Amino acid sequence: MADNCLFCKIVNGNIPADKLYEDDEVLAFRDISPQAPVHFLVIPKKHLSGPAAVDGENERLMGKIIRIGNEVANKEGIKQYRLVFNNGADAGQTVFHIHMHVLGGRSMNWPPG
Ligand code: AMP
Ligand code: ZN
Repeated sequence: MADNCLFCKIVNGNIPADKLYEDDEVLAFRDISPQAPVHFLVIPKKHLSGPAAVDGENERLMGKIIRIGNEVANKEGIKQYRLVFNNGADAGQTVFHIHMHVLGGRSMNWPPG
């Protein structure tokens, strides 16, 4: 739990979220400002500031986040999707609790902006 972290507050239940999956380590919830017909976030409950904070202790957990993202995407009716991790403000990171975006339900452009 990090002070004033929005996603820690969602983990703790202090801020509501539209949850799609939860276990003791991982939470998935819909993005409040969806950029595609399906857009949800998958986070570890443990606070990590972003991709650069992933080390050997956390690498299994990050693999699980990809697996859960796929399972939730399938439940949402999509087999094709884009996964995004933003690392740092210049990359578009606005919440400094690591999160994987899962976007789908429409065709995507490349490169992203
Ligand atoms: P990023 O820009 O990669 O840090 O992504 C942060 C994401 O969190 C954005 O897509 C926001 O729309 C989303 N977001 C911000 N606040 C909330 C919230 N309370 N519930 C769900 N998603 C949120
Ligand atoms: Zn946090």
